Amino acid sequence: MSESGLEQLRAEFDGALAAAGTAADLERLSALWIGREGKLRRLTEGLGALPPEEKKARGKAINELKLAITAAFEARGRALSAAPRGPAPDAIDVTLPGERPRLGRRHPIYSTMEELRDVFGRLGFECVYGPEIETTYYNFEALNIPLDHPAAEPFDTWYLDEPDGGKRPHRALLRSHTSPAQMHVMESRVPPIRVVVPGKVFRTDPADASHLPVFHQIEGLYVDEGVTFADLKGVLSIANKALFGAKTETRFRPSYFPFTEPSAEVDVSCLLCGGTGCPACKGSGWIEILGCGMVHPRVLEFAKIDPARYSGFAFGMGVDRIAMLKLGVTDIRHFVRSHPLFLGQW
Ligand SMILES: [Zn+2]
Repeated sequence: MSESGLEQLRAEFDGALAAAGTAADLERLSALWIGREGKLRRLTEGLGALPPEEKKARGKAINELKLAITAAFEARGRALSAAPRGPAPDAIDVTLPGERPRLGRRHPIYSTMEELRDVFGRLGFECVYGPEIETTYYNFEALNIPLDHPAAEPFDTWYLDEPDGGKRPHRALLRSHTSPAQMHVMESRVPPIRVVVPGKVFRTDPADASHLPVFHQIEGLYVDEGVTFADLKGVLSIANKALFGAKTETRFRPSYFPFTEPSAEVDVSCLLCGGTGCPACKGSGWIEILGCGMVHPRVLEFAKIDPARYSGFAFGMGVDRIAMLKLGVTDIRHFVRSHPLFLGQW
């Protein structure tokens, strides 16, 4: 190898050394260059066959290269071990908390609906669904609500079409309660019938702290031979304890609904004060949560179920209202504003 060959080798070594950034790199490089099988060792092969003068000069050059390379190794080794430990200034600090990914979660209305389904499921009620687009027949007439009833007025109900002069007797509308589903179930099944129907309902109410034009109800229906008001009281009292706590008391107050007779409003003992009276229950100790009653015989007749043989009870409650009571939410609009801080609490 000529003199320039040695210089080329030196340049190759300098490049490889500059690229070695760790002690392990340096070790690999050392084996490659100055080990027993290294490049420097191989340079001395064939040296003995050279004429004495040339052999002397060549040996000297190789020796100088060896010394220079060994010195460079040592210097690089010292530099690497003296380098400050820890991350470089622009490195990522892995001890800092990361950016938490935004996880989706169940909406509180949906969770409440699931809980209601679960509570009534354990009491033997099957969960079914009804259509959100109904007709005046199912939404009102079959439930014993005459079409001149205030609930059927256009300022309470979202109608989807206009009357057509009698050719099509029933107008389409967005259901204003889940009760029409009772009729669909009774028309398609033979008692015993024991179902709950959760779902969206629609009214023309403007949004305020306690109203939304779209909200949620869950409807319950039990029809069989010999069903009495005592069954209704038993089921709802147990359900209220499951929903609001074992100490919850349930109170039934006489009321009126066109589709049940007799009818009752149901109150539970105040969740905040336990019944002693506080601002949440306006000092009464009770909070109204649902309406119920025995299915009106005319409603059974509409569904072609013999009221002389069968009886039943029905109840309906606002899921949003139950969620507000359970979670202590004072404005129903929070549920649809979907602020992550609000929804992230549950
Ligand atoms: Zn209270």
